[in-house]
Amino acid sequence: MARYTGSVCRQCRREGTKLFLKGDKCYTEKCPMTLRHTPPGMHGQGRKKQSEYGLQLREKQKVRRAYGILESQFRKYYDMATNMKGVTGENMLSLIERRLDNVAYRLNFGESRPMARQMVTHGHVLVNGKKVDIASYQVKVGDEITIREKSREIPFFKTLREEGAKRTIPQWLELDAENLKGRVVALPKREDIDLSIEEHNIVEFYSR
Ligand code: SF4
Repeated sequence: MARYTGSVCRQCRREGTKLFLKGDKCYTEKCPMTLRHTPPGMHGQGRKKQSEYGLQLREKQKVRRAYGILESQFRKYYDMATNMKGVTGENMLSLIERRLDNVAYRLNFGESRPMARQMVTHGHVLVNGKKVDIASYQVKVGDEITIREKSREIPFFKTLREEGAKRTIPQWLELDAENLKGRVVALPKREDIDLSIEEHNIVEFYSR
């Protein structure tokens, strides 16, 4: 599957916000966003005020890049959300948040979403005892997310077992770090999403 292979920090600079794609580095002074806030490219500093369309596009790109989702799949989340009861923007964010790669990240099974995605696609993650290597898999309430036995000796997981989670676990998930076991206890609500997102801009972008 096609994926972005350029500098991930450049994506943060383009969106003007931290997307937390590099794990620990994102929380240190080495993060380029703490050093330079301008968009990449030679005209980065001279960019003028954005049009309404530009704002909507940037909001959509920001969320897509933060979660590492391709345009066609992102559009599918929007289409699914429009067919659900409730507020389209919130439904869309909830669907995205329920992706298995994001759940693995939220459970601290990866330092960043890209790393958590790799844990999933490389087959380290089990859902209800069965290997699921599809990053976009949608978790349900009651699902148990664990790390397969053979992978528990990976230094990253050993540290997680010994030191516990570094990041806060959202309320809709539970983590037993010692046993590398997570559980979905509720569906994610709007307030569970910690990125600053103006989802109405994304809805307006697609409903043009
Ligand atoms: Fe790079 Fe992380 Fe900083 Fe983004 S937040 S610029 S990915 S170090």
